[in-house]
Amino acid sequence: MADFSVYFWGVRGSLPACGPETQRSGGHTSMVEMRCGEHVLMFDAGTAAKIAGDSLDERGVRQVDVFFSHFHYDHIIGLPFLLFALGRDVRVDLWSGHLNGPWTTRELIARFMAPPFFPVTPGDVKSKLDYHDFEPGDTLKPAEGVSVRTIRLNHPGGAVGYRVFYDGRSAAYLTDVEHEGSEVDPALAEFLKGADLAIYDAAYTDKELPSCRGYGHSTWQHAVKLAKAAEVKRFALFHHCLDRTDEQLDAIERSAKAQYPGMFAARAGVTVTL
Ligand SMILES: [Zn+2]
Ligand SMILES: [Zn+2]
Repeated sequence: MADFSVYFWGVRGSLPACGPETQRSGGHTSMVEMRCGEHVLMFDAGTAAKIAGDSLDERGVRQVDVFFSHFHYDHIIGLPFLLFALGRDVRVDLWSGHLNGPWTTRELIARFMAPPFFPVTPGDVKSKLDYHDFEPGDTLKPAEGVSVRTIRLNHPGGAVGYRVFYDGRSAAYLTDVEHEGSEVDPALAEFLKGADLAIYDAAYTDKELPSCRGYGHSTWQHAVKLAKAAEVKRFALFHHCLDRTDEQLDAIERSAKAQYPGMFAARAGVTVTL
């Protein structure tokens, strides 16, 4: 069976969490790598992007696809460091689909990597950059044998969820999504149906949600409902609230597991093999 694995580089939302109370789960913002055989797919480029880029370079990876959920800072802030870590013989394909205009992926990245915000522009990067735009709902084919379904997520300004299919297995990345009401969105349940792994925004608890409505994030309790409805085998709670301590996360994980055994809290440095 071909290798299909998922590695968590960063699991936090909104801002890095660097204190001693978040060391075990990791303080870097959203960034997940999926390895489909030799092919590398990266989801978002949070603050772990420098170490992720160095790792790609050390492993001799020559082509990487980077898929953005959206362009909020916690998901793109590391991009210049990822690109800068890669050499001249590397091709980077950059994908986004949450905006129907006015900016393309190329324009968004050019605006982000520009003075006075940052001194390094896309033109200063050694590796070859290719840009791709799509509409949520499209199915993408980044490589032979790798198929990526997409879906629009409920988030301020919009976001995109992804489900990667490879060699008879699948893993989904759905972050920065707020559920409406208490019922599971049938479109999301259908999108995740039977997935081997789902990574899902569980920034809050149900108790915290009323004061955070409209911020664009979900809860671990809702994640459990979605996991059950979609019969997902393993379900990762992700995009942890930046002040969620390791101990609190352990407790959330225990409660979630008690309700559905496949639940776990995403922690940086962990590989899930599908
Ligand atoms: Zn975020
Ligand atoms: Zn966001």
